[in-house]
Amino acid sequence: MRLPGVSRGLRPGRKPLVSIPRSHRRAYNLAVVGGGITGLTSVWQASHDPQCTGITLYEKEPRLGGWLQSEKIPVDGGHVLFEYGPRTLRSSFPASLPLINMITELGLLDQVITTSRKSSAARNRFIYYPDHLVKIPSLDLSSITNSINSITQLFQTLQAEPLFKNALSGFLLEPTQPSRPPSEWQEDESIASFISRRFHPNIAENLLSAVMHGIYAGDIDQLSAQTILGSLRNLDDVGIFRGMFDRAVQQKTSALMDDFIGSSLISRTQKSEEFLPERADVVRASTFTLKGGTQQLVEGLETALKKSDKVKIMTGTDIKSMIQRQGSDSISIQTAKSGTERFNRVIAALPTPALSKILESRTNHPNQKAPPYDTINKLQAHNYATTIMVINLYYPNPNLLPVEGFGYLIPRSIPADQNPECGLGVIFASATSTGQNALHPDRDESQDTAPGTKLTIMMGGHYWDGWKDSDYPDHDSAVKMARAMLQRHLGITDAPTLARSRLQKDAVPQYTVGHLDRMYSLSKTVRNDFNRRLVLAGNWYAGIGVGDCVRSGILAAGLGTGRMTLPAKTEDGQPGGPWTEYNYRDWDFEGGIPTAPVRLFDYDLKSTRVR
Ligand SMILES: Cc1cc2nc3c(=O)[nH]c(=O)nc-3n(C[C@H](O)[C@H](O)[C@H](O)COP(=O)(O)OP(=O)(O)OC[C@H]3O[C@@H](n4cnc5c(N)ncnc54)[C@H](O)[C@@H]3O)c2cc1C
Repeated sequence: MRLPGVSRGLRPGRKPLVSIPRSHRRAYNLAVVGGGITGLTSVWQASHDPQCTGITLYEKEPRLGGWLQSEKIPVDGGHVLFEYGPRTLRSSFPASLPLINMITELGLLDQVITTSRKSSAARNRFIYYPDHLVKIPSLDLSSITNSINSITQLFQTLQAEPLFKNALSGFLLEPTQPSRPPSEWQEDESIASFISRRFHPNIAENLLSAVMHGIYAGDIDQLSAQTILGSLRNLDDVGIFRGMFDRAVQQKTSALMDDFIGSSLISRTQKSEEFLPERADVVRASTFTLKGGTQQLVEGLETALKKSDKVKIMTGTDIKSMIQRQGSDSISIQTAKSGTERFNRVIAALPTPALSKILESRTNHPNQKAPPYDTINKLQAHNYATTIMVINLYYPNPNLLPVEGFGYLIPRSIPADQNPECGLGVIFASATSTGQNALHPDRDESQDTAPGTKLTIMMGGHYWDGWKDSDYPDHDSAVKMARAMLQRHLGITDAPTLARSRLQKDAVPQYTVGHLDRMYSLSKTVRNDFNRRLVLAGNWYAGIGVGDCVRSGILAAGLGTGRMTLPAKTEDGQPGGPWTEYNYRDWDFEGGIPTAPVRLFDYDLKSTRVR
């Protein structure tokens, strides 16, 4: 299948950074706080800016990478690679371009494993309901016969499986559902409310809740429809099916402006342009990962940054305070290790609760400004994240699973006796970490060299909200619970020969109802309180995927520091990007959360060109 816009989107021939006008030309030094993927990306992007004289990266932990953490473990016959954080990276245009470009620039493209859209790991995704796995139907429209067969199968599954109770009528009646009165359009609602209103509550309970367990480990009654389902919700007035049909006829698709901005701003050299076809192949895949796990990305960035004489990396460094003094725009950061250092710009790429604590800490300096209470209060109001227990199991038996595919998710509608462990889902990790080499598509690749089956079980999430430390299962209990779940759901009785677990506390920030308004207000407040010198970036604000974080790091270093503005034109005289259709010259990105005020727009698949 040709992915719309890919060939246009990946066009070579226009120069990178140099084509982007700078908004200020003063030399500046930069501090980045938080060495997760967002912080590392910000440092990497800023390190290419000739006006940036020095960058200090502060990371509290002894290691860099934040949630990106992989472990290669020797077993009989080779090794297996376990991921404790992200594992599958989303392929899509233009959202994954910044990440793919960065991987290319770091020389890691030959380490990328792509999962083809035709593979069973891409096509076979399951939901467990109420006591068995149900494959989510996928349509094969490659020929008339295949189309007829798959549509027939779709109708049979929708009618036969309790998972899809009321789904068919819900979909058919959707165009007749009343839309919300225009006076309420701006008002956010939960994703459960939106999907129940437009389709049927069972669709929210059985399908949506399962999907959200897989992405946010979150509760559909709390998550924001405006933030998470914005492109569908924008069709509320005309009806979702009608709106989607209209878009298809007009060859338009809903797209995030920030994705286009991110792919336009990312530092690029000739290297990215050389590997254009390979990059296009990665974008066309279903998902991708790295042979050495997502941690390889962290190692690649660390190696590149250590080569730059501008960059100072301070791991194991706790920040005591971050203050602005009276009459000064610069921000002082105090640590026990290195005393106080002053910076012209600071990018905070750490969780909001950690940032608010740092801002609350005061020093005895007489010229210290009053604490930024407005910023602190707003950061403190955005402090909800879910906790996940990640259990990785390895079995020498390669034929352990009753089905092939990506894995399965568990909806919240599952009766408690079918899910006493508070399971969110199971990833068939052997399948998701196997595929083709991005540079040599005829070469099969796997993260593991030992034959066998690798599974990842995730449990907890919103079910564990409010739990105390003593409530969480320890390693032995977690493995026992995971094995009980696999036995009940899949009939697996084998004992794993390797088991590792990690309790990832407060790991997934929740974008609850009203998130966008709160972020807008937080951004404005931070700008005011810090005179545009403090930039917020990372998974707490505008997207939790690794690709979102990379984009956020690029926007923070490029636009948030005030160093770049959006280009009006490319070097060959074409419009610089979809922003040129708006009053983009008035858009303000400096300080706060750098994000375009036009969040979603209908992207014309025929005309817009982006590098
Ligand atoms: C279990 C799990 C599975 C996931 N699966 C996927 C997936 O398959 N695909 C995907 O795309 N995404 C996935 N994600 C999401 C993705 O991994 C995260 O959103 C992303 O890694 C967040 O990166 P970040 O740099 O913004 O934040 P973080 O990784 O949280 O980095 C913040 C950094 O700040 C540091 N820090 C905190 N306090 C201080 C302080 N006071 N001073 C200095 N430093 C400090 C932290 O130690 C940390 O290193 C998953 C997340 C988890 C937890």
